[in-house]
Amino acid sequence: MGETRKTRVLIIGSGPAGYTAAVYSARAMLEPILVQGQQPGGQLTITTEVENWPGRTEVQGPDLMVQMEEHARAMGAEVLFDTITELELSRRPFVARGDSGTTYEADAIILATGAQARWLGLPSEEKFKGFGVSACATCDGFFYRGKRVVVIGGGNTAVEEALFLTNFAEKVTVVHRREGFRAEKILQDRLFKNPKIEVLWNHTVEEIEGETAPHLSVTGVRLRNTTTGAVHLLPCDGFFVAIGHAPASELVKDQLELHNGGYVKVEPGTTRTSIPGVFAAGDLTDHVYRQAITSAGMGCMAALDAEHWLAEQDG
Ligand code: FAD
Ligand code: NAP
Repeated sequence: MGETRKTRVLIIGSGPAGYTAAVYSARAMLEPILVQGQQPGGQLTITTEVENWPGRTEVQGPDLMVQMEEHARAMGAEVLFDTITELELSRRPFVARGDSGTTYEADAIILATGAQARWLGLPSEEKFKGFGVSACATCDGFFYRGKRVVVIGGGNTAVEEALFLTNFAEKVTVVHRREGFRAEKILQDRLFKNPKIEVLWNHTVEEIEGETAPHLSVTGVRLRNTTTGAVHLLPCDGFFVAIGHAPASELVKDQLELHNGGYVKVEPGTTRTSIPGVFAAGDLTDHVYRQAITSAGMGCMAALDAEHWLAEQDG
């Protein structure tokens, strides 16, 4: 049997939302416990330059997240490396179980579990995951020195991943299902100016092709032109999926109201979920903005909402 930890506020997740909630609730003397999950620091730890965090014209994503963690600890938050595998929200105190064996009992909970990369769902994608198929250029780009890679997607992530991959790859082809990116214009400008990058509009991926011997490796991608229906093989050594992110709401999907395809629903203008005492912040609740700064802002709101709610309970 693991130990049981009691806390006023349990914060689940260590992205910008979680750490900001920790800073605010620690300064409110609520002695919060923050559980980091399997990706301490969250999504920004898999990127390089962040250029839209106010006050810093440029900061490395992983550095920013280390600074946020230090800030939360310095204010008095307890930051633990554990992952919540089970959450009971039907009784109070709320109970969360960690895969370390620790049980957490909390008067209030702030959910900040963010989002995870979406995959295409192709059998070949599953087969070659980790062997030529990746959803993280920062993590795996290094393996494609002098090689040809394909990036699929048309948002900020796809464009940033493509630009980053030019540091290693000889050629980067961005494949997008329609004619026009949704990425910010400044990123698009950089992409179109880069001689190593080619864009294939109006194409979808049919299957990723590769070899199984002497080891699993990608050799190309079969693409369909959505205008003509023609299928052709584009030879490549690596395939990067960058088609967006899905909210990490698995823990609460049967307990809280969700909307817009799995995002936790909050009362407009607040972070209150459908269960009093449970608050949600960041990409977990936000299908529109999905930025570090908006997540941090919601983390602040969640801490203040939790503080006020706890004060009301104390009467
Ligand atoms: P996340 O950062 O997603 O963090 C979620 C946290 O929850 C993680 O720490 C995870 O370990 C934890 N967690 C999940 N499940 C559990 C569990 N069961 N138990 C405990 N913990 C759990 N935004 C910008 O503003 N500027 C940028 O330049 C920028 N670049 C980006 C580049 C990339 C490649 C990506 C993928 C995103 C980028 N974004 C950028 C978006 C930004 O990263 C997100 O909006 C932001 O990180 C969301 O913060 P969050 O705190 O909601 O969640
Ligand atoms: P996104 O903005 O949702 O874009 C996903 C892209 O993938 C879209 O272009 C979409 O096509 C395409 N797509 C979706 N499903 C597909 C499928 N099944 N097959 C082929 N293509 C598919 O996701 P994102 O780029 O990961 O960005 C997520 C959030 O993080 C955004 O809010 C973004 O602004 C933020 N972010 C910010 C920065 C930054 O500020 N520098 C960097 C990275 C991410 P359609 O366009 O046709 O829908």
